[in-house]
Amino acid sequence: MPEDMSGTRVVVDADLCEGHALCIQLAPEVFDLSDEEIAGAAPMGGQWDQGTWDAVKSAVDACPRQAISLLNTSTKGQ
Ligand code: SF4
Repeated sequence: MPEDMSGTRVVVDADLCEGHALCIQLAPEVFDLSDEEIAGAAPMGGQWDQGTWDAVKSAVDACPRQAISLLNTSTKGQ
């Protein structure tokens, strides 16, 4: 089922992340580890294809710390 993910951002809570890197294994084009071994997400939500979004959703489910959130920042309708 198609899903409009435009305006959606992927956010990693640095306070929760423990650097397990499961998210990076699932979606390496989206997640990366910082020097402090805390995952960060590339700031290009909404520009990925459906396969990448599926990988992001798998990472959300797989994260043992539930540190990954999908935030809809769409301002449609202002
Ligand atoms: S899977 Fe979760 S805890 Fe592990 S690096 Fe990714 S965001 Fe951090």
